[in-house]
Amino acid sequence: MLYDKHNIFAKIIEGKVQANKLYEDDKILAIHDINPVAPIHVLVIPKEYYIDYSDFIQKASAHDIKYYFTKINEIIQLLDLLHDGYRLVTNKGSESGQTIFHFHTHIIGGRRISGLAG
Ligand code: 5GP
Repeated sequence: MLYDKHNIFAKIIEGKVQANKLYEDDKILAIHDINPVAPIHVLVIPKEYYIDYSDFIQKASAHDIKYYFTKINEIIQLLDLLHDGYRLVTNKGSESGQTIFHFHTHIIGGRRISGLAG
């Protein structure tokens, strides 16, 4: 599968589509999910083009991988979820529920979550 630059997250990164941004720097964008499944539902998106987690891990530098996951933890702190807890989710492939084929991690929190998979 090739990366398709026409996906909505690529357009948000390019500034062509609006999003409710929580955090942005030159490498990462964090936005509130348009269809939240919990009171807090944030998507952390690397700005470089990766299709999914496997693509990211295989192609990104060790520095960028560490930066990405460290930033996720900072955003979790920004959301004040460290004490109560949170769930991290990343889907790979349509079988898992991935709908946007630009790698992203969901931070979900603000309520008690039960069950592991739908
Ligand atoms: P996936 O199903 O690929 O793991 O997650 C994609 C997520 O992106 C979904 O939770 C969906 O609600 C969210 N989403 C889809 N389109 C948009 C959009 O235009 N803006 C924002 N903020 N979220 C979106």
